[in-house]
Amino acid sequence: MKKIGIDLGGTAIKAARFGEEGELEDEFSIPTPARAGRMPIFQAIYCAVDKLWKEDVGLIGVSSAGDIDPVRGICVHATDNLIGWTGANIRGELERRYHVRVLVDNDAVAALKGELAFYPEAKNVTMLTFGTGVGGASLVNGEILRGKNFGAARWGHTILVPHGIRCNCGKRGCAEVYLSATALIKQGQKRMLGLVDCKQLFDRAASGETEAVDVVARFQDHLGILLENVRTVLAPEYIILGGGVAKSVSVMEEVIGGAEDVVLARRGSLAGVYGAISERI
Ligand SMILES: [Zn+2]
Repeated sequence: MKKIGIDLGGTAIKAARFGEEGELEDEFSIPTPARAGRMPIFQAIYCAVDKLWKEDVGLIGVSSAGDIDPVRGICVHATDNLIGWTGANIRGELERRYHVRVLVDNDAVAALKGELAFYPEAKNVTMLTFGTGVGGASLVNGEILRGKNFGAARWGHTILVPHGIRCNCGKRGCAEVYLSATALIKQGQKRMLGLVDCKQLFDRAASGETEAVDVVARFQDHLGILLENVRTVLAPEYIILGGGVAKSVSVMEEVIGGAEDVVLARRGSLAGVYGAISERI
């Protein structure tokens, strides 16, 4: 049986097909129509699944931003990173269309599941993903922490700065508004002309441009605080850093500073599609 994994983020939908032995057969990504509402998001997912479809596909796994009930396959709550996605019956819609089993989970939880393959003995692991938003998921004593309404371990919405920048979860000063790719680009653009993406920001910092160095230094300070908070609360064996921003290895490694409990995602930005097809609840 082949499987299709879909990773729905605020900027891109990553999609992959896996063969009988779990080997990656095909993968691509398309933009998420994140501001267009629920139906266009579903249509983009269908478009990705249709492109990967083969006769012997027997399972579709979807990892989605937002608080996800993996038992019912529903998005319980999403911020405006995915407008209209709160209440989306992801499993129901996909089962009705494709007549195969559908697994659904939060995207950071899926990334965690995807990476856990490399740490089979570990019982306490926290995953942090730095993309459009900042995702968080924690394995505690061998169980994925879920909490009330599946809202636990949302490290991106722990507050780093009192009375800080407003977050689209409604609070101020969340980790997400300092550590996401969106936040980095926004802060960079305020001070630097012509900045378009994070890679450019990091490149300009590496070449010594003062404004860029300053934005990156603040990012690193805030990331250091978040890592320390995770350690203080859960004392995990590993904290795994993933998502687009974590591709900037040198910036992340300066924060990690040789600490053995912090590692970069081995599957990079594909951790979520691998985890999406995992049976683990
Ligand atoms: Zn927030």
